[in-house]
Amino acid sequence: MRLSNKGKDKITPTVKNNIEPRYVSKCRLCNRDLKYTGKYISILLQNGNEELLSLCYCKYCKKYYIEGYEDVFISPGDEDKYWLYGPYDEKDGEKFTEKMSQCKDPGNKFCECEAHMYFRKFIYGEGG
Ligand SMILES: [Zn+2]
Ligand SMILES: [Zn+2]
Repeated sequence: MRLSNKGKDKITPTVKNNIEPRYVSKCRLCNRDLKYTGKYISILLQNGNEELLSLCYCKYCKKYYIEGYEDVFISPGDEDKYWLYGPYDEKDGEKFTEKMSQCKDPGNKFCECEAHMYFRKFIYGEGG
């Protein structure tokens, strides 16, 4: 796997200065490996692909991160893409945990529940 900028402009979120493609989920503050919390949600992107958001945590810094993995299946030849959003403080992390727990079917990218809408907005900003 390697970094690819292909199609990047299509999914550039409005979340300010806390996103860049990543392949190894390490804490941006201490560089230790992040721990996956087991919470995730799968979002349908505007380009038709799916982005799997996984909530991760650094116990040393007490910060949360959301790891985004875009499953590229619409345009053959494109590389899969990884993103890391964060760090977020524990208050935000608890909100993400609560939202991800709220949906009965977090792996269903077509779900339109409040939690799914929340994370779509998280990726695309208010306009999405
Ligand atoms: Zn850390
Ligand atoms: Zn849902």
